[in-house]
Amino acid sequence: MKTRKLGRCVWLREAIADDEQDQPPLQGQQKADVCIVGGGYAGLWTALEIKARDPACDVAIVEADICGGGASGRNSGMVLSQWAKIDALRNFCGEDGAVRLGKAFGASAHNIEVFCKTNGIDAEFRPDGWIWGSTCAAHDGSWRGILESLARSGQSPFQELTAQQIAERCGTTSFRGGIYDPTAATLHPGKLVRGIRRVALGKGIRIFENSPMRHLERTAEPRIHTAAGSLTAKTCVLTMNAWSLGIPELKSAIVVLASDDAVTEPVPDLLEKLGYLGKPLMGDSQTFVTGFRTTANHRFQPGISGGIIGFGSLAGQRFEGRSIRDAEIRACVQRGFPALAHLPFADSWCGPIDRTQSGLPLFGKLPGPSNIFYGYGFSGNGVATTPVTARILASLALGVKDEWSGCGLVRAPERWMPPEPIRYVGAHMVRAAIRRKDDLNQRSKRIGPIVRALSAMAPGGITTSTVKKERN
Ligand SMILES: Cc1cc2nc3c(=O)[nH]c(=O)nc-3n(C[C@H](O)[C@H](O)[C@H](O)COP(=O)(O)OP(=O)(O)OC[C@H]3O[C@@H](n4cnc5c(N)ncnc54)[C@H](O)[C@@H]3O)c2cc1C
Repeated sequence: MKTRKLGRCVWLREAIADDEQDQPPLQGQQKADVCIVGGGYAGLWTALEIKARDPACDVAIVEADICGGGASGRNSGMVLSQWAKIDALRNFCGEDGAVRLGKAFGASAHNIEVFCKTNGIDAEFRPDGWIWGSTCAAHDGSWRGILESLARSGQSPFQELTAQQIAERCGTTSFRGGIYDPTAATLHPGKLVRGIRRVALGKGIRIFENSPMRHLERTAEPRIHTAAGSLTAKTCVLTMNAWSLGIPELKSAIVVLASDDAVTEPVPDLLEKLGYLGKPLMGDSQTFVTGFRTTANHRFQPGISGGIIGFGSLAGQRFEGRSIRDAEIRACVQRGFPALAHLPFADSWCGPIDRTQSGLPLFGKLPGPSNIFYGYGFSGNGVATTPVTARILASLALGVKDEWSGCGLVRAPERWMPPEPIRYVGAHMVRAAIRRKDDLNQRSKRIGPIVRALSAMAPGGITTSTVKKERN
């Protein structure tokens, strides 16, 4: 059977070789030491981390689609430190833990680059940094509170930039000022996830693709059931991203919202003329953030958050195919890079994001006698965080008590979201308010109390972090 490329976004179409085969689906009754459900970055990095610590451990991954078919093969490829979430990190992990994790996330881009070089993966890694800026008066200085908070921890990972400095670096005069994180990078998400898959297979990790878990038996040794087989393991790790909504204990901690990306055809001459060829990735300060980057083959790639809202367990839903938000993406380009707003989109797509209230992921063990662990809630920031948090999941899965399994991100899922259908209706109201607030801010208009109150219920994203302690 050939790996399917049809209906996939440009990243996977470019990353999957024509003659590449899917791994066989799970069939019959199988056994493993550790079974990981979900073959995205979180599952693959965790499998590699477990194997690195215990080479004799028999690790198997059960993936509903193909590895990278979820968010890992269709994200924007922005490798961002998590320093913008210092307050939320401090809230869960304390001062020392927050700084330790912040440094680990900050080092992630470099570590991914080293991993790719060591393993012969050309993931088109570009360490050009990240500019987080303002495109309207209401957003000016959005980052100041975070800089002050970081300074209290003795950290200064960002450099402030004026509008002129941003224009000189990136060729757009639409940004009124911002900050620069030199540790950030861009990469090709499809080539990265398919590269990690190749390395995992080379290490003897078994991968079953096209094998959706239909039932999770919570016996002393957990058992995964698929249409054609079952896999019994001593330990199971769930890295199912937005599809964690299908696990009753996990769904109250996340709301699922799509992000949407687009790419133009390669336009090297235009980017060169503008001054945005091979330059830093950029993001604005909207609650539903807009991001801009370029690819190694000189496509311009804008992306926006705040799209389709997930309902129920996400089963049968279509966070797939071409984005339905091309016009909205174009409006964002008009705002951030007007000189590129006329370019047609060669492709656009969307994918689900598992947003927690704080914007930080969750790790832990499901209640009951089975060794079933979870890792999800990456909130649109999984590229740099998953290699680090794989250490947390590996320590939990191997029963090791250390700084990782004891870290503050290991916690019970917060009971933040109400049950359906209130969750779905409420999420639409909050999303409408956020869109309204973002729009009013751009037009320097006053925001009324209802819009203000509803939009304050926004989940954490790339830069925002709700620091209020979530209740269990
Ligand atoms: C459009 C978009 C843009 C983004 N941009 C960025 C960015 O620039 N930077 C950044 O850091 N992050 C970004 N993200 C987020 C990032 O992609 C994710 O945080 C990251 O990929 C999460 O990895 P994961 O392994 O948890 O999830 P996934 O890659 O989604 O993997 C989960 C896997 O679980 C599988 N699965 C689900 N249910 C089952 C089941 N029942 N049985 C078996 N398998 C199952 C799915 O098929 C899927 O492959 C973006 C996401 C999207 C959608």
